[in-house]
Amino acid sequence: SPDGHDYEIQRDRVCLKDILGNGQFGDVHKGIYRDKDGNEIPVAVKTCKEDNEESMTEKFLEEALIMQQFDHPHIVKLVGICSENRPVWIVMELAKHGEMRAYLQNNKHRLDLCTLIMYSYQLSTALSYLESKKFVHRDIAARNVLVSAHDSVKLGDFGLSRWVEEQRVCIWEILMYGIKPFQGVKNNDVIGKIENGERLPLPPGSNGSVEDEEVVPPPKPARPQFAGVSPAGSTRNISQQSIPTPPN
Ligand code: ATP
Repeated sequence: SPDGHDYEIQRDRVCLKDILGNGQFGDVHKGIYRDKDGNEIPVAVKTCKEDNEESMTEKFLEEALIMQQFDHPHIVKLVGICSENRPVWIVMELAKHGEMRAYLQNNKHRLDLCTLIMYSYQLSTALSYLESKKFVHRDIAARNVLVSAHDSVKLGDFGLSRWVEEQRVCIWEILMYGIKPFQGVKNNDVIGKIENGERLPLPPGSNGSVEDEEVVPPPKPARPQFAGVSPAGSTRNISQQSIPTPPN
């Protein structure tokens, strides 16, 4: 690679353990990586199914190529890749507590507003870092944020990264303890709703609290501020329909 960093690692330094989840390309395992100094580092290993086509494998590795450029405390770090033979693996730093959405839902009782705002702040430092590298994530949502420790969240899943998406939706998800925005609304219908002035309900406790109000329609904006909002579920393509010109 251009910076002289070779991310290829020897497969026998990686020991796969339990499955953590299923990714788009294959299972994601917990694992242990033994580095050159003999340290045992807990890792997450994304695997690419062997029956995937070659073009899929390339697509899979793209995420690693993107991640290797980053070095930030709130972005999941790439440890290395095993790409010289099959199955291809992407080895990365393990976020011990897994997906933020589930963490928010399961730990409500010990997540005070300060912690939620800290998470939002940490993610904004990660986004600001990405922007400084002229990078954009494109899929900011609670499901793509991982929890490393009770006081530290990290941005993961760079499969879609390209341009920065509206961040407020993710902060809404945090303040709502992991509730998905726009549930029951089709991806393609979200933009229309937003253009019509519909907004997500204010999270409890924010600004005088309007807990019972469903949707607060403010005056119709002259130009919609949102584009490519991630509604409930997976929402990969909505952003492609209205990609704003990124600031230079
Ligand atoms: P999708 O496209 O559906 O988001 P993906 O291929 O991008 O899938 P991920 O969502 O990144 O795969 O990973 C699948 C699951 O594996 C995650 O939901 C999470 O539970 C777990 N996981 C991924 N990376 C890590 C990590 N670094 N630390 C801990 N768990 C992880």
